[in-house]
Amino acid sequence: MAQVSLSGIAKRYNGGFQAVHPASFQIRDGEFVVLVGPSGCGKSTMLRMIAGLEEITEGDLHIGERLVNNIDPADRDIAMVFQNYALYPHMTVRKNIGYGLQNRKIPQAEIDRKVAEASALLNLDDYLDRKPSQLSGGQRQRVAMGRAIVRDPALFLFDEPLSNLDAKLRNQMRIEIKALQRRLGVTSVYVTHDQVEAMTMADRIIVMNAGRIEQIGTPVEIYHAPATTFVASFIGAPPMNLLDGQVIGATAQIGDLALGAAPATISGPVTIGLRPEDILLDAAGPLSLEVAIVEELGAHRLLHGTVSGQPISVHVNKDIPATTGTVRVTLKPNALSFFATETGLRL
Ligand code: ATP
Repeated sequence: MAQVSLSGIAKRYNGGFQAVHPASFQIRDGEFVVLVGPSGCGKSTMLRMIAGLEEITEGDLHIGERLVNNIDPADRDIAMVFQNYALYPHMTVRKNIGYGLQNRKIPQAEIDRKVAEASALLNLDDYLDRKPSQLSGGQRQRVAMGRAIVRDPALFLFDEPLSNLDAKLRNQMRIEIKALQRRLGVTSVYVTHDQVEAMTMADRIIVMNAGRIEQIGTPVEIYHAPATTFVASFIGAPPMNLLDGQVIGATAQIGDLALGAAPATISGPVTIGLRPEDILLDAAGPLSLEVAIVEELGAHRLLHGTVSGQPISVHVNKDIPATTGTVRVTLKPNALSFFATETGLRL
């Protein structure tokens, strides 16, 4: 187990394209950190620099007390789990899990013990003599996990490990990986473009955009107080509504319509953020919502429409009847977030 410290870590490919701008953060011993962001934001590059698969252009990387910038991946005491499991097709599950240890000349009895331990942990006992082609996607992913676990690494690195699985299996494996990480207490860095995985698995989330870190925080901090409009619109499904508005005399407005109180320190044009679940249907409510589409999701519904011509999504409980057309709504207290319109920064 170890803490990981990145100090001004940056990546410039071939001396040209800046894939990661200088970034500094610490991952605590035993922490589960998720790097999340859209395709091309630099999250895999960041992970690969930690793994040693990509050279670090500038900055210092410590795993534990050790500066590892120039240490080979094999000597960094890490184990990586990839999207495409990379199992050996001709080897049994047992051999696949133990192969890395065999290469390191670990005595066979110890390999057998570690494989048995990992197999029990991952519910693979019935599959140890099968080949990867005889396994389901979820079972293959577990074998890949097993291979990482038997190495007793200081650090687990996951690169979109669930992307090849169908939605149901992804949900199940998400819970399994999280539970396993808790149980083993191994410091983990997990890359995904899926904000649901980030929210549900992370102790802390690092949101990246265009090679820069937009925000670092717990899922609750990031959801409730996004640092930028980018984070506000990336985290949450549907994301936070972002409205063109202004603050006049400590009142937030869109057009002439008053939405609620704003801090006295803010005035003039702003972007107003409003989470879909902070808008309530209320026959006596002050706002008029034109509902164009009702999305049925079983436990709840999403209403998509406009308020004063601006697009808005509203999250309502399944028990509340909903149709298209005009409805009245009210906002929960303290529902509004404010962002500078030019920079997107939270005010
Ligand atoms: P994805 O989810 O699509 O994998 P990502 O956030 O992981 O995206 P990276 O793979 O880290 O993104 O890539 C970040 C940027 O660096 C991208 O614009 C990509 O085109 C660029 N890049 C990646 N590898 C190289 C390379 N070997 N040479 C030049 N540019 C690269």
